[in-house]
Amino acid sequence: MNHPAIEQPATTVARLRATFATGRTKPVEWRTGQLRRLRAMLTERGTDLAAALHADLGKSSTEAYRTEIDFTLREIDHTLDHLQEWLRPEPAPVPAHLGADATAWTQYDPLGVVLVIAPWNYPAQLLLAPMVGALASGNAVVAKPSELAPATSAALAELIPAYLDTDAVAVVEGGVPETTALLAERFDHIFYTGNGTVGRIVMRAAAEHLTPVTLELGGKSPVFVDRGADLGVVADRLARGKFLNAGQTCVAPDYVLTDPETAAALEPVLVRAVEALFGADPAQSPEYGRIINERHFDRLSGLLGSGRVAVGGGSDREAKYIAPTVLADVDPASPVMREEIFGPILPIVTVAGLDEAIGFINDRDKPLALYVFTESDATRSRIAAETSSGGLGYGLPLAHLTVSDLPFGGVGESGMGSYHGRYSIETFSHRKAVLDKPLG
Ligand code: NAD
Repeated sequence: MNHPAIEQPATTVARLRATFATGRTKPVEWRTGQLRRLRAMLTERGTDLAAALHADLGKSSTEAYRTEIDFTLREIDHTLDHLQEWLRPEPAPVPAHLGADATAWTQYDPLGVVLVIAPWNYPAQLLLAPMVGALASGNAVVAKPSELAPATSAALAELIPAYLDTDAVAVVEGGVPETTALLAERFDHIFYTGNGTVGRIVMRAAAEHLTPVTLELGGKSPVFVDRGADLGVVADRLARGKFLNAGQTCVAPDYVLTDPETAAALEPVLVRAVEALFGADPAQSPEYGRIINERHFDRLSGLLGSGRVAVGGGSDREAKYIAPTVLADVDPASPVMREEIFGPILPIVTVAGLDEAIGFINDRDKPLALYVFTESDATRSRIAAETSSGGLGYGLPLAHLTVSDLPFGGVGESGMGSYHGRYSIETFSHRKAVLDKPLG
């Protein structure tokens, strides 16, 4: 039986560790069984999750399904389709001095008890998608949803134990004290998604137990718009990527770098693109989300003055509404350029051209994502060769993370490690080296 309300973190971890020690989570049948149960949870109770996501973030049902529920279902299906193949031992060539009868291979071993800590912006997807990988790898899992998305946290705490093996999977709800208590325990892997300040706390706590970590962090993801790019397409795709979930997306385009002529031409097209998406008054659009809480609302309101408002600029604290906003003529030293925006404000910063854009990007923290709109192969290759980022998207923001066969993760300040699809198996397993030399 699972008693999450009264169980202490140490008891939860010990209970899961005892289950793992029996070997119950290791057979592939248990793993696929859990994935099918998770699948059933999402199909049977998806509407409950969508309602919770609406309560927490004003997410429309369409958006909740597209970016969280269906997204996770695709990750489950892709894993179910390929798990046997991914888990297959991989032969390695053996050097001659070991003899012709020696063989060698690698095999994936589960790690043990894994902790998954999720943030509030995609509070279902970012808890469940890592869990898919952790379960598929044969681990027991402690899942810690974000307290800042309380309705989703409560829904997950109710649904996960109702569908999954409660001897091997536990949900621990709570904020800093509960997470701090959890982090004092020994885990075999910690998978953290959130900001870099807490990422450092997690890594420090993990170091005490030599626990490996995956840190999925954020930062400012730049966009470079090259001279000559089709601005109608650029504006439409930029606005969709930026204003999804009211800009509260870790890989959202954070700011635009472009030359002054392109900036001037892009501005009116962006204004029209925002209107085409959300109408003349986005506050009335059911497709436009809200800011998670007053603290973030106040932080974002403070950034609205960082440039000339080309579109948007309005806000309503009671409704936690901030209009989709484009700021032009933004000074690189202004407040909006000093931190990850994580909200519906898109600054345009002008640079002389590609060289300056590359310099601008490389002078700052390595981003989680970098987006480039260009028709030029030379620009594409220079960006690829001369910059470093977690992911690189030509022509379409956000979408690289929906490609199940691409690793999703950051580099430098935007994080370490990656997941999705087979990369989740790499993250949540130990790749054991085996040598077999017959005795005969
Ligand atoms: P958050 O405040 O919900 O925090 C994330 C988790 O950390 C929560 O579960 C929370 O309980 C826990 N936490 C908070 N303070 C803690 C502490 N002192 N000790 C231990 N645990 C603590 O979310 P957030 O950090 O505001 O999330 C936003 C950030 O996450 C942004 O920077 C964003 O870019 C990044 N992000 C990254 C990804 C990615 O996949 N790389 C995805 C989403 C968000």
